[in-house]
Amino acid sequence: MDSVVDPLSTVARHTPITRRLVAAFGAMFLLGLLVAVAALFNIAQKLDEEDVRKTLFYTERALENRITASKNYIASYTYWTTAYEHLNGEVDVQWAYAEQNMGKTLFTKDGYEGVFVIDRERTKYAVVLGQNVQGDAASYIDTPLQPLVEKLQGQADLTRPVISYTLFNGWPAIVTASVILPNDERPRVDAKGTSVLLFVDQLTPTKLRKLGKSYGLTDLTLKRDTELAPDRPAVPLDSTGYSLVSHLQQPGHQLLWSLLPPLGGALLILALLTAYFFRYALRTARHVDASYDRLQLSTLALEASEERFRAVAEAASDWIWEIDGEQRITYLSGRFNTVTGFSDQQWLGQDIEQLLYCDTTPIVHWLGKLTEEQSTGNLRCSYRDYSGQLRFCRVSARPIYDKAAVVGYRGTASDITDEVAAHAQVQHLSLHDALTGLPNRNKLARYLDDALVAKEHSAPLTLLMVDLDNFKPINDSLGHPAGDAVLLEVAQRLRDSTREQDLVARLGGDEFVVVLNGMDSTTEIDRFCARLIDSLQQPIHYETHSLHIGASIGIAVSRRQGYIPGELIRCADIALYQAKSEGKKTWCYFASQMNDQIQHRRQLENDLRQAVKNREFVLHFQPRYTVDGSEIVAVEALVRWQHPTQGLLGPDAFIPLAEQTDLIVPLSHWVLREACETALTWPGELMVSVNLSPAQFQRSDVVEDVRKVLIETRFPASRLELEITENVMLNDVDGALQVMNDLKELGVRLNMDDFGTGYSSLGYLRTYPFDGIKIDKRFIASMSNSSNDRAVVQAIINLGKAMGLTVTAEGVETQAQLGSLGSDECHEVQGYFLSRPIDKQAFAQLLNSGRPLLKTAS
Ligand code: C2E
Ligand code: CA
Ligand code: CA
Repeated sequence: MDSVVDPLSTVARHTPITRRLVAAFGAMFLLGLLVAVAALFNIAQKLDEEDVRKTLFYTERALENRITASKNYIASYTYWTTAYEHLNGEVDVQWAYAEQNMGKTLFTKDGYEGVFVIDRERTKYAVVLGQNVQGDAASYIDTPLQPLVEKLQGQADLTRPVISYTLFNGWPAIVTASVILPNDERPRVDAKGTSVLLFVDQLTPTKLRKLGKSYGLTDLTLKRDTELAPDRPAVPLDSTGYSLVSHLQQPGHQLLWSLLPPLGGALLILALLTAYFFRYALRTARHVDASYDRLQLSTLALEASEERFRAVAEAASDWIWEIDGEQRITYLSGRFNTVTGFSDQQWLGQDIEQLLYCDTTPIVHWLGKLTEEQSTGNLRCSYRDYSGQLRFCRVSARPIYDKAAVVGYRGTASDITDEVAAHAQVQHLSLHDALTGLPNRNKLARYLDDALVAKEHSAPLTLLMVDLDNFKPINDSLGHPAGDAVLLEVAQRLRDSTREQDLVARLGGDEFVVVLNGMDSTTEIDRFCARLIDSLQQPIHYETHSLHIGASIGIAVSRRQGYIPGELIRCADIALYQAKSEGKKTWCYFASQMNDQIQHRRQLENDLRQAVKNREFVLHFQPRYTVDGSEIVAVEALVRWQHPTQGLLGPDAFIPLAEQTDLIVPLSHWVLREACETALTWPGELMVSVNLSPAQFQRSDVVEDVRKVLIETRFPASRLELEITENVMLNDVDGALQVMNDLKELGVRLNMDDFGTGYSSLGYLRTYPFDGIKIDKRFIASMSNSSNDRAVVQAIINLGKAMGLTVTAEGVETQAQLGSLGSDECHEVQGYFLSRPIDKQAFAQLLNSGRPLLKTAS
């Protein structure tokens, strides 16, 4: 019997221990529960704090990056010789606004609500919401501007932009300001005399929403400081009274809300189970022991899962990894599959370096340096996901200890692919031209810096500065969409013409740069330029138009012009200037004497600008006679410049320059008015001839200009003759026809000048409303050389007559020429042989002498 164990007595024997155990367990369980709940709240609070910290961090980052981008952007405008020249004195509004160098697109494309050029005293140029306005910047911007200008001008490094926050039209905005400087090698400019460019970037709700989105911020907005809760994370915008705030995600709150109900349920079940367990625990000691074992196990499991849970909670959207001492992956959380597309089974047991790659430091090396205290280091890694796409993650890690020894690491990987992409996007925008997508001035500068860093050991570079001919007229007459289409096509052709190692950049307007890497043999460059010019000459189709442009190229070669990027650009620019003045559609290598020529040209341009202001011009008059020399039929007005130091300059010295700048418009205006006013003083009904420049047709409303002068001087239109070369028709055939018909309607006469020097003149003659032609003096000069040349002149005379036109021969220098023209029955003659161009007084005398006859006849 003794051997029979009474179960009850066993229970009785074990009861005190079991009870104690059960009581202890109960207390422990309760305590554990309390600790777990406290830990949960603690985690939730930490998460919320982290969220606040991150939100604030990204809000600051977003603002900072916007400011940096704006600073970079403004620098590409302010550190630019062309801008300096057009903006520093009187602002050249035509250049800045009409030619879009600093006009509407700064608003429509770049989002600047305000663009201002100011100096210490005044606002010189203002574009508000894309419109050129006559206003004071201070009436839009509430920050005092004078201290800003003084601060900028007082900086040791004048090229550094400065930003400030302000209210613009009452709404917070970032003002980026920078001094406008030349980026060429000229003597230092006087800081106090410089102008300042302001870019105003209003922080509108739409812009902020977009900005926030790229930083993962929901609802990035502005709030008045007075409306802000004291603990609300916000980035203040200084004195504007506003701060940037973003919606808080409060992941801790979310966690509590999502965990507490199931946890409550689980606790209830646990409580029921415990009660159940209590009942049965008292029955058998074995059960108790077994339960005890199980309890131990489940407590352990709880501990482990709590630790994992903590890790999960710390980074809810990340995946978690663990590796052992040999860097073999031992654990990957469920998110791994969602984010990477791999199943964890594919990677468990593999070396972590197979999965993740860091380009700055080997992961193992980085892990080795981690200690418990500074376990928060992050490493940016990349990997290819299941679909082969490159992704980026920020890896954090902490060691796993067994006793004191590190037996592995555990950590999280947060996916930052979008963040990296957004950053790259910002980076891209600041380095590329928005219209064509080509690298911009900034990118070019970086590229050259890198390529030339090794000086004479770097590969030879050739820098081509490409400028389009005839782009502005297209932009002006067909509008900006047409201009944009041309620029896009040009960009494509440039890309197509270059190799992978070359760079094509757009500097703005119609200026492009091509850098040929590793090429500097003249034969190769010549071949390249010829091909490029040919490609750019092919017509560009836009809507129903077939547009013709050309290009001129200036070339600088690193092996000859040196390894300083700015210097190369400057040299290429000078060479371009030369190419243009050599008649466009050509290329030109930099040569050191060009420096002086350019200096001279620049000087001349400045002088000419002054001359137009000071009216330093005079007209000379050259009569045109009937072929028998018996009568003056008309007088041609020819302009001269009374240069303050160089004396009397002929039109060939300055008309081409005036045509390249806008000076041709006021100059021609003066000529026309002066000619009409002078002609009014002559006796009789003598006709006056005035030359028109093709450039005028593109840059001003010729018909309106002529009408105005006729009305204001009360000069009869029937006494005015306009001389136009056929170049006028080359650019815009239909437009020119319209203008000439309109001119005819005013009642003036039209003469085609320099007939025979252009091409397809005959076609033009038939279509256009000319009254006469002037045979170019080259034909007259060569007439006596060969019978063939004389035959050409005869043919032109006959042709003109057949079309009912008055035919004039110009450049008649000899009696023999006059004789031939007489027998060929040319109508009228003009030339040194009859009279040189003479000034106003001399011509008045000629008329008064009553001998308007041939020198020889007198
Ligand atoms: P153009 O219209 O063909 O003017 C005739 C030029 O031939 C004038 O030169 C005149 O002085 C020159 N000439 C006249 N008779 C003879 C001659 O027998 N032999 C030679 N070798 N030359 C002769 P100029 O005054 O130097 O003017 C040159 C060009 O400048 C003009 O060529 C015209 O295209 C342009 N020009 C002159 N005045 C004006 C103006 O007010 N406005 C514009 N847009 N162009 C002007
Ligand atoms: Ca003429
Ligand atoms: Ca002529």
